[in-house]
Amino acid sequence: MAATPRREREATARRDATEARSDGDAEATRLRGGDGVAAPGSQVASRVLVVEDEPGIVDFVRRGLQSEGFEVESAGDGIEGERLALGGDFDAVVLDLMLPGRPGFEILQTLRRARPTTPVIVLTARGEVDDRVAGLEAGAVDYLVKPFSVAELVARVRAQLRVIAQASASTLAAEDIEVNLLTRKVVRGGRVVTLSTTEFELLVCLLRHAGQVLTREEILSAVWGYEHDPTTNVVDVYVGYLRRKLGSSDDPAPIFTVRAVGYRLGGAG
Ligand code: CA
Repeated sequence: MAATPRREREATARRDATEARSDGDAEATRLRGGDGVAAPGSQVASRVLVVEDEPGIVDFVRRGLQSEGFEVESAGDGIEGERLALGGDFDAVVLDLMLPGRPGFEILQTLRRARPTTPVIVLTARGEVDDRVAGLEAGAVDYLVKPFSVAELVARVRAQLRVIAQASASTLAAEDIEVNLLTRKVVRGGRVVTLSTTEFELLVCLLRHAGQVLTREEILSAVWGYEHDPTTNVVDVYVGYLRRKLGSSDDPAPIFTVRAVGYRLGGAG
């Protein structure tokens, strides 16, 4: 999947959280639950693009969204709308289907390919809700039939942003490894990797502390939950399993042995 600005923002949030930790900001880390993932949009206003050619609707949608704290940009035709939608870093797009220049449905198809995680709320006239709209992937898009109330639109935008926020808050990523904590799906470099429960917990532990050296004792207590037994080599054994499943001899997993200490996922040197 192509990197999107949203991902970059979240990566920045994660880096910021890591820096706070290394600054000794233990309290802030505790308050965040230590998972280092800040909720996207928690400090910045969400930006919504409105692509609609009827100035009256643009005006009423803009005022409605702005009064609820959203930042709004608009485009009055399909060509400008598509340009902004693809180029701007928007959290959501409100898209009319009947547009001069380029039909909304074509913009929607382009947008789904180029920015698959950006929610799109489609505006249609009564009777335009045809198979094309009904056939769109569930969850990827929502639609509103004109005339609609601005409260309804705001509710739909909020609902879509919530779906996105939940999905990103439940994702941990470092290097080219991504883990979804809800679905437990693990992907490395675009390849889905199947892990056992213990291997999964070990990877999550390493990802939560990506770039940091973890001692065997820290890993033991985080993953296995018992006090250090100096005779056990269970951590080394499972790191070995994880490396084999995540990597190959050509492309080793970015899990490094730090001699006499423990392990580190990612990080230079
Ligand atoms: Ca129109």
